[in-house]
Amino acid sequence: MSLLHVSALTARYGAAPALFDVSLDIGAGEVVALMGRNGMGKTTTVKAICGMLPWEGTIRFDDADLAGWPSHRIARAGIGLVPEGRRPFRDLTVRENLIAAARTGDWTLERVADLFPRLGERSGQRAGSLSGGEQQMLAIGRALMTNPRLLILDEATEGLAPLVRQEIWAAIARLKRDTGLAILVIDKSVRELAQVADRAVILERGKTAWQGGMADLTPDISERLVGV
Ligand code: ATP
Repeated sequence: MSLLHVSALTARYGAAPALFDVSLDIGAGEVVALMGRNGMGKTTTVKAICGMLPWEGTIRFDDADLAGWPSHRIARAGIGLVPEGRRPFRDLTVRENLIAAARTGDWTLERVADLFPRLGERSGQRAGSLSGGEQQMLAIGRALMTNPRLLILDEATEGLAPLVRQEIWAAIARLKRDTGLAILVIDKSVRELAQVADRAVILERGKTAWQGGMADLTPDISERLVGV
């Protein structure tokens, strides 16, 4: 049984349709890459799953029908989002940002600091003064502090320096190895996604154009649908 099941998903921005027919499934503990060129509907799909936009079709999480659920209820049910562009509370410290997100469960400040040592080192520092990479680590840490069962990363490493990107990918690989967390990850780097993801879902103009195992994603499909 899928942890997250999406089928026949449609969504629009006012009169402009953005999603026509998106389907995807994520099993417990699975890492799935959501791919596709710019503007194909990846962020819109994530927003629909997280209840941040009206949609039609089917979205089920852990067998609960999410139709009509507000985003705070979806978060409480166990979907943790690291949104595109991150955005910590800039005037709070790293520690305060993490505490503000915390819900009862396995994740603690110590565990986040173990995953991202830099956050431990900067725990008293104002979040607004962190580098872009550190802010992304904090955004992931905040999502983990909610103790999700599904973590969604929209543009996991967008705009970050190469070394920091490596740290983020290593953290994702570690989450996959050490926890039963399911992860939906959006990123432009097919090579890095191929290292960490079990399966891929590719969107083209608001529709699921391809879905399959990472090993079955041939260079041909990748070139045609992702552009690399
Ligand atoms: P990117 O990689 O550029 O973020 P994406 O695959 O995430 O692309 P979306 O951001 O989901 O794509 O956009 C899907 C479609 O919806 C695009 O045609 C886009 O122009 C449109 N769209 C996105 N956000 C809005 C908005 N707030 N208002 C109107 N149209 C929007």
